[in-house]
Parts: sequence; structure tokens; C-alpha cells
Amino acid sequence: MDFKLDKKQLDFQKEVEHFLKTNVPPGYSEKSLYWPGGYGAILEFEERDPAVDRFRERMYEEGWTTMAWPKELGGGGRSMVEQAIFAERLSYHRAPGSDTAMLIVVPTIMRYGSDEFKKEWIPKIMKGNLRFWLAYSEPNAGSDLSAIQTKAVEDGDDFIVNGQKIWSSGAHISDYGWMVARTDLNVPAHKGTSMFIVDNKTPGITIRPLINIVGFHSFNEVFFDNVRIPKKNLVGEKNLGFLYLMVALDFERLAIAIGGFRRQYEDIVKYAKETKRDGKPISENYAVRKKLADLAIEIEIAYMYFFKTAWMMDNNMHPNIEASVLKLVATQLSRKLAGVGMDVLGMRGQLNHDSPYAPLDGRVCIGYLDSISAVIGAGASEIQRNIIAQRGLGLPRK
Ligand SMILES: Cc1cc2nc3c(=O)[nH]c(=O)nc-3n(C[C@H](O)[C@H](O)[C@H](O)COP(=O)(O)OP(=O)(O)OC[C@H]3O[C@@H](n4cnc5c(N)ncnc54)[C@H](O)[C@@H]3O)c2cc1C
Repeated sequence: MDFKLDKKQLDFQKEVEHFLKTNVPPGYSEKSLYWPGGYGAILEFEERDPAVDRFRERMYEEGWTTMAWPKELGGGGRSMVEQAIFAERLSYHRAPGSDTAMLIVVPTIMRYGSDEFKKEWIPKIMKGNLRFWLAYSEPNAGSDLSAIQTKAVEDGDDFIVNGQKIWSSGAHISDYGWMVARTDLNVPAHKGTSMFIVDNKTPGITIRPLINIVGFHSFNEVFFDNVRIPKKNLVGEKNLGFLYLMVALDFERLAIAIGGFRRQYEDIVKYAKETKRDGKPISENYAVRKKLADLAIEIEIAYMYFFKTAWMMDNNMHPNIEASVLKLVATQLSRKLAGVGMDVLGMRGQLNHDSPYAPLDGRVCIGYLDSISAVIGAGASEIQRNIIAQRGLGLPRK
């Protein structure tokens, strides 16, 4: 087994580097407060920046966003490993681009949408300037999504939707919702749930902000009051939406911005080498060195899982357990990285990003708070452990 990238892959990586260096909007990487694994400090949630939309268009023009899609759907026919190389570099450079539509919606449509549905939605999404939000969680349904109560009732050419979603990241800056609703309440959820695309402009939708722990307007609560969704916006088959949801969640768990971990780690190590405490560089402190060494090992493990899942998909294997392992490993790492970052930065770590004295642009301070979201969003760590125990190890449910 060879764990190294081959020559072709290394050349491709260089090509990606060049593209990012010449196309990321000026100043974006420095301004970005994104913490690897986190959900709550993505600048694009604050507003739709035309420079970011332009960058997405450039990615589309270069074929990066669709590189691993089949050629018959307008993709580049490249491997998932190449796509992973691209995603790693994108996140390493703190470039905009973590995208619900491309990473979650499209792969699910490709798998379960009818030919007509694929033809309608994939070309539109391909251009990169449509935003989607995920309408899964409800006030009484998070870890247990079988408890969702939002209803979609057939009426002529439409479904009429009533209910409420919560923790809806980016709903306020999105064009469409990717939603699950109950279409048959008389059977268990896995037999009576459907998946829809809902236009945010439809009358009856009310979006209210929720401000998160880092002070960002990242998520929302969304109310549906007699909202009409055309039947043609039903994804796949009626009542099979729970299966699609599980697969979409796997895609979400795989969408880890892996390069961000290495980049943030390198920044902390550099700071430890360059900053003196009690007359000596922080990096000479034994306790700090040990923590940094532990982190280096864990980052390597996360990278291994990241590339392993891509390799599995290239070899027609579905990384269901691996998606949960990757999500678990990476998000626990997100918290640990923030904790070690705080230890290294000391009191200055508590300075927020708007302070001129905040080291590393205040990212560690934000990350320390935001990393809490990492271990909850897309299924809490306990849920990932349950999946690994039940589906991976065959242990009993209780
Ligand atoms: C920053 C952020 C962004 C989010 N964005 C979105 C979004 O865009 N769209 C969306 O639909 N949702 C979103 N969510 C919601 C997220 O998916 C849920 O918060 C998550 O699934 C947990 O559900 P809950 O909050 O209802 O907690 P609960 O389900 O009430 O769980 C509470 C605690 O109990 C534990 N627990 C629950 N069940 C079990 C069990 N069976 N075994 C062991 N422990 C258990 C959990 O680990 C958790 O710590 C987001 C969440 C966060 C933090």
C-alpha cells in the first residue's frame, strides 16, 4: 500500500495551488474567521459578497466544482481523490467554497433524482451561485430525526407544508431549502417521509435569526405556514425521503474542511516558535511540545480518514461508517486544536478578532467558542459513536 500522492496527483495539486493563489478574493483568507470543523463563523453567512460569488463562478468555469461528476452530467470525470486534493487545498488557503448545494444536494440528486429532476437541477446548481440550506432539525427532532413533525399534504399539483425547522444554517442568505417533511404520519418515519426542494421566496415562509455563541447570525428558525411546493420539486419517490436523508447526512459528514486543521495548526506552531514567555520561546516548554506533538498525530489520522473515504468512493464502496469516524475524529480534533491554541496563546488568546492585540487574527478565540458547534452539527459525537457501534461493529442498539 502506498500512502503518497503520485506524480499526476502532485501536479494536479500544484495546478490547484496556482488557481487559488490567483483567484481567491484579495484579503478573504486573512479576513476569514472560519475554524476547522466549526459551523458558526463562516463569513458568507453574514452577507452575500459579490467577490465570493465571482470566485464560485471562476471555480465553475475552471471545472473544479464539478470535476468528479460523470461526464454525461457535465462533469470532469475526475476521481474523488482528486476532488479531495482540491478540497484540502481550498480549505488550507481559507478560501470560500464550502457549499451545501455542491457537496450534499447534488450528490444525493445524482443518486436518487429522476432523469428529469437531474436535468432540471444539476445544470442550475453547477454554476455555483445558488445557495441551499438544510431543513432537517426541528424543535423536537435533532438527533432523532424520525421525530420530525413538519407535514406535507398533497393538494392538486402541489404539496402544502406546515411546520417549523430550527438551527437552519444560512437559510437567510439561501435561495432554496433542502427539506424533509412527513408525507404519511400513520407509518414509521422511514416509510412516511419525503424530501423536497423549496424555493425560499414561496409565500408562507418566515425566517427568523438566531445569533450564535460567536455573535454571528449563522442559523435561523424557519416557519412554514401553508407553503405550496410544486410536486415536481419532490426528490426521488414519495415516502422514501428518510433514506435520502441518511445518505445526504453521510455526504455532509464527509464534507470536512480538512486543510483548515493543518493550516491552523501550522499557525499555532509558528506562534509558539516566535513568541517568548519568561525569556524563552513557548515552543521550548515541554508541556506545549507534548500537546503539539499529539495534535500533529491526530491531524495525520484525520487526513488518513479523509483520503480513505475518497478512495473508497472511487472504488464503488459507500463510506458509511468511515463518514461517521471522520466526522467524529475531525470534530473532536476541532475542539482540541482550539484548546491547545488557547494554552499556547495564554491571556492574549481571549482577545477577540476586533482587538488589534489579538494574536492570529483572533481566530483561536472565535474557534474556541465555535468548535462547540462542530461536535453537534450533522449529528452529535454520541450519535456518530452509536452508528460506529451498531452499523460498524454490529453491537446491539441497547
Ligand atoms: C452550528 C450548528 C449548525 C446547525 N445547522 C443545521 C442546519 O443547517 N440544518 C439542520 O437541519 N440542523 C442544523 N443543526 C442542528 C443539528 O443537526 C442538531 O443540533 C443535532 O442533530 C442535535 O440535535 P439537537 O440539538 O436536537 O439535540 P438533541 O437531539 O436534543 O441531543 C442533545 C444531547 O443528547 C445527546 N443524545 C441525543 N440522542 C442520543 C442517543 N441516542 N445516544 C446518546 N446521546 C444522545 C446528544 O449527543 C446531545 O449532546 C445545526 C447545529 C449546530 C450546532
